[in-house]
Amino acid sequence: MSFPHIFEPLDLGFTTLKNRVLMGSMHMGLEEEKNGFDKLAAFYQARAKGGVGLIVTGGIAPNFAGRVEPKGSQLSFFWHVNKHKKITNAVHQEGGKICLQILHTGRYAYHPFNVSASAIKSPISPFKPKALSERGIKKTINDFVNCAYLAQKAGYDGVEIMGSEGYLINQFIAPKTNKRTDDWGGSFENRTRLALDIVRQTREKVGPDFIIIFRLSMLDLVDEGSTFDEVVKLAKLLETAGVTILNTGIGWHEARIPTIVTSVPRKAFTWITERIKQQVSIPVITTNRINTPEVAEQILSSGQADMVSMARPFLADADFVNKAKENNSDQINTCIACNQGCLDHVFQRQRATCLVNPVAGYETELLFKTVVEPKKLAVVGAGPAGMAFACYAAERGHEIHLFDAEQSIGGQFNIAKTIPGKEEFYETIRYFENRLKQLGVHLHLGQTKDAESLVAGDFDKIVIATGITPRKLPIPGFDSDKVLGYLDVLKHHKPVGKNVAIIGAGGIGFDVACALTQPKSHTLDLEHWLAYWGVDTDYSERGAIKKQKEDQPTRKIYLMQRKNTKVGAGLGKTSGWVHRMELKRSGVDMMAGVEYKALTEEGLEIIIDGETRILDVDNVIVCAGQLSNTTLADELKALGADVEIIGGASYASELDAKRAIRQGAELASTI
Ligand code: FAD
Ligand code: NAP
Ligand code: SF4
Repeated sequence: MSFPHIFEPLDLGFTTLKNRVLMGSMHMGLEEEKNGFDKLAAFYQARAKGGVGLIVTGGIAPNFAGRVEPKGSQLSFFWHVNKHKKITNAVHQEGGKICLQILHTGRYAYHPFNVSASAIKSPISPFKPKALSERGIKKTINDFVNCAYLAQKAGYDGVEIMGSEGYLINQFIAPKTNKRTDDWGGSFENRTRLALDIVRQTREKVGPDFIIIFRLSMLDLVDEGSTFDEVVKLAKLLETAGVTILNTGIGWHEARIPTIVTSVPRKAFTWITERIKQQVSIPVITTNRINTPEVAEQILSSGQADMVSMARPFLADADFVNKAKENNSDQINTCIACNQGCLDHVFQRQRATCLVNPVAGYETELLFKTVVEPKKLAVVGAGPAGMAFACYAAERGHEIHLFDAEQSIGGQFNIAKTIPGKEEFYETIRYFENRLKQLGVHLHLGQTKDAESLVAGDFDKIVIATGITPRKLPIPGFDSDKVLGYLDVLKHHKPVGKNVAIIGAGGIGFDVACALTQPKSHTLDLEHWLAYWGVDTDYSERGAIKKQKEDQPTRKIYLMQRKNTKVGAGLGKTSGWVHRMELKRSGVDMMAGVEYKALTEEGLEIIIDGETRILDVDNVIVCAGQLSNTTLADELKALGADVEIIGGASYASELDAKRAIRQGAELASTI
């Protein structure tokens, strides 16, 4: 077996976990949907079937104040129990184990009834919390205990008490948010009383044979957070209070240090779990940016942790663990940490899914049934849309011929993966390459298809996934050699000067600016990355943050858009701020409300705030969106061929890989 440490059972005394992999808590948005628990049950069942050792559910509030939002899910009454039984039964049917996460959001709640240790508003909720009275605190403890008891009644194998990420319990622990002067604030003993009373009383209520995981904030990454000594002391007290397993929490949601986006190096925070593990005798789980069995095995074999938690990797591939067990880790659909289908959806109050796996969260809806009469299908374009369609359609039994003009599959993902901090995008191409092979898809590379050759191919249907062409701008002077397209820079590596104007501040404009300002990817050098973001591995101050290490700007860049909105407002909710911060620190001038007039001998003439400015630049790089490649589809239709169009070829506006892959999958499920 390639991963002996992953598959070593973990004996907890009263129960044994079959391996060292925990599926971390993820709110799916199904918790609040009509009939959502049936869909949730199918979602968890697929992961249990996929072999994961222990699952933790998305956070469920122990009372109304603790809900994420007014309609957020809560487990407080007996009549809530039955719907949870759907989940526990489904997981147990597959031989899996599952814990319910009890999450009280405290001041992070997105409603006006929120509470905290002190009445201090958080920067990420518009609602100022009420400080809990002493009576309110005792009632909150009872609500946690009651929630755990009901979870036990619902058949869960245990609970995870959420004590990190800046939620209520963490708000009591840290001096930043706890300014109380009574028995629940001030000294370490008082600030940790809530956490310890919850654990003690929960253990008393549920008895010894029930898993209690405590998610402990090992690095708050905010000022006035805990000290290292306090984290260690609390870890030991939690062990004594009855915790079965300690899980790692990294960074409050309001922290200005990225903790899970794709540019965070793999296993960037395991070093802190390792230090805490040395101080306690209960098993300790490590988390954050672990997305392959190889990384998990490395952590476990070097003794840094007893278990490894992965959350998003189980959205990307429900069968992650079984594939690793069967030595097929190269068949795993790897989470690329983009957040586009999962966290960004949750923040927009949409159901969570996955960019690389559109079935996640749609297990009962997006189905690929074996066909009775297989068809011979041509797919033109092996970008995300074409690759996804080809795989899902082949899975159903169709004969698929996939064509691409290039010598490799992947389409624009081949360019995306070259951007510093986006190295993970390579994994998606690797996955599809192996999957296409496994499914027997006929791959025809280096073939630019035209309508005649396709019609002559005698296909039942032709699926056009030819993607896009970058938009060119009819601005005076833009026929100059100084004007480059983003493909000239990123794909053809044309030289770029020291002073640059980028036209268009969408995802690609940001990526080009990043590529031009970051000669070496921060992501590939953990030590540098930690210093760049100011993570204090010496833990010399509360919260483990220190002054960020500055990089010297290598170029003068203007990143511009016509809209008056904040530059980068259209980027992902959970990742856009990281890109904006990086570019700001590289001295990139972000300009909104710009009118482009002409490129002349003097430079790029623009109007901004009613004033004309000339930017003295060596190059102008156009990143002004794209247009669909529709010629082939139009020609085929004219010849009477049966054609379907997906991805960028169908419409280019607001196209991203999430839409391209989903469109490919949806078409394959019906064809
Ligand atoms: P494409 O990826 O464009 O693929 C089309 C394929 O068709 C190409 O391989 C092409 O060679 C082939 N083709 C065209 N015509 C023919 C023909 N006649 N015969 C044979 N083959 C043909 N999206 C995200 O969601 N998140 C990101 O972070 C992200 N980052 C990006 C960064 C960069 C730098 C770039 C350039 C793009 C990024 N994207 C990102 C966008 C994403 O890659 C695209 O939305 C996605 O690739 C579109 O998929 P598609 O299959 O429709 O088209
Ligand atoms: P985009 O996000 O739509 O941005 C296009 C930019 O060009 C905008 O800034 C737009 O702003 C500008 N523009 C549009 N038409 C113009 C015109 N006629 N003249 C001048 N400027 C014009 O597209 P993209 O940057 O090309 O990215 C393509 C897709 O890939 C996007 O959907 C994106 O989501 C995805 N992608 C995502 C990421 C990510 O990190 N999530 C990264 C890269 C790419 P104004 O109209 O205001 O000028
Ligand atoms: Fe991972 Fe992106 Fe899928 Fe989320 S959407 S699970 S981050 S690949």
